[in-house]
Amino acid sequence: MTRWRFAAATDTGVVRATNQDALHVDNQIAIIADGMGGHAAGEVASEIAVNIVREDFARSGAVEGLHEAIEKANLAIIKDANSNPERFGMGTTVIAVGITYDIEGIGSPTLFNVGDSRAYQLRDGALRQLSEDHSVAEEWVRMGRLTPEEALTHPRRHQLTRALGVEEKLDIDVLSLDVHVGDRILLCSDGLSNELTSEEIARIASSPVSLDDAVAELVDGAKRAGGNDNISVVLLEFDEVSLASNPIKKTVSSAAPPVAKGAQSQSQPSIIRRQRQFSWRTYAGAGVFAFLVLGFVLIMHWYAYSTFYLANNNGVVSVYQGQQNGVLWFQPQKVLDTNYQVSQLRPADQQALSATIAEPTLNAALNYAAYLHTAWTLSNSGAATTTSTVTTTTTKAKKG
Ligand code: MG
Repeated sequence: MTRWRFAAATDTGVVRATNQDALHVDNQIAIIADGMGGHAAGEVASEIAVNIVREDFARSGAVEGLHEAIEKANLAIIKDANSNPERFGMGTTVIAVGITYDIEGIGSPTLFNVGDSRAYQLRDGALRQLSEDHSVAEEWVRMGRLTPEEALTHPRRHQLTRALGVEEKLDIDVLSLDVHVGDRILLCSDGLSNELTSEEIARIASSPVSLDDAVAELVDGAKRAGGNDNISVVLLEFDEVSLASNPIKKTVSSAAPPVAKGAQSQSQPSIIRRQRQFSWRTYAGAGVFAFLVLGFVLIMHWYAYSTFYLANNNGVVSVYQGQQNGVLWFQPQKVLDTNYQVSQLRPADQQALSATIAEPTLNAALNYAAYLHTAWTLSNSGAATTTSTVTTTTTKAKKG
C-alpha cells in the first residue's frame, strides 16, 4: 500500500498574461501539464490532458491504464486542434505520478513523462531528478554534444522533442519509483526549474515546514527570480510505500491510433486532416522548388542558344547555334552548311574562323559568311577599294 500527503499550486508568474499550465492531485494521482500554443490554445491542451488522464486513471489504476490515458489525451488534443483551426499546433507536456496496482492489488508509485516538466525525488535534503527532459538541448546533453551547463543557456533548451498534440504516435517514459517513507516527490513545470537552481529547489522543497508552505515558497522563489513562465508545483510526501514487484523503466510507444468501429467517423477525419495539412505544405514547398529549378533551366537554355557562330566544318563554312563550349548540358548545334569553302576565304579570315566568329542572329551569320567570301573574291581580283573593308573584317574576326 502506498499513501502520500500532498500540496500543490499553480501561478501565472510575473510576465505571462495567462496561465497555460494545468494540474490535478489527489490521493491516487498527481499530474502537471504545461500547455503551449497561441490564442489560449495551450490552456485547452493542458486542460484536456489533465482531465482525460485523471478521469481514465480513476477507472483503471493500472500502469497500462495510465499510459493509455495519456495516449488518449494526445489523440483528443490533435482532434480538437483539427476541429478548431485557431488552435492548430497546440500541445502540452504531461508529467504524472500515479499509484498503480499490480495483479495482486499492490499499489506502488509510477512516474509517467512526456516533455520537459520535471519530477524530483527529495531524500535527506538531497535532490535527484527522476525525469528526463524531452528537449533538444537535454537530448544533446545525453548524447554528449553539450555539457549540462551549456544546455542551461542553449537556444534550443525550450524546443521539445516530445509533447502531446504533435503526432499520433507518442513515446511515454514510464518509471517505477523507489521511494522510502518520508521521501518527497516534487513535480513541476519548467516555470520553476528554469528560475531556481537545483540547490535552491532542494533547499526549499526539503525544508521541515508544511507541504503547503514549501509549495508556496517554491512559487514565490520562482517569481522573485523572474517569473518568466507559468509556475506549477506538486509536492508529495510518502507516509507509506509499497514498491513494485516488477519495477518498470521503459519508454512505451503508442501503437497506431485506435479506430473503434463506431468511432471511425469521428476519429479518422481529424487524423486525415492533419496529414492533409502537412501534405499541402510539403507539396507547396516541392512546387516552389520545382518552379525555381525550371526557371533556372529555362534561363540557361535561353543563354546557351542565344548566339550563332561560323565555324570550319570539314572545310565548309557552317553556321552553329549555341555557345562554342556549351553551357551545362546544352551543347552547340549545327544549323546549316553555307555554300562557301573555308579555302575560299582570305588567310586571316580562315584563321579567325578556326576560332569561330560569333553573330547575334542566323541572318547576321549568313550575311557575314557571304561578306567574307566576297572579300576573298575581291582580294583575288586585286581591287584596291577593298583595303579598308578587309581591315575591318580582320579586326572583327579577332574579336569573335
Ligand atoms: Mg512552461
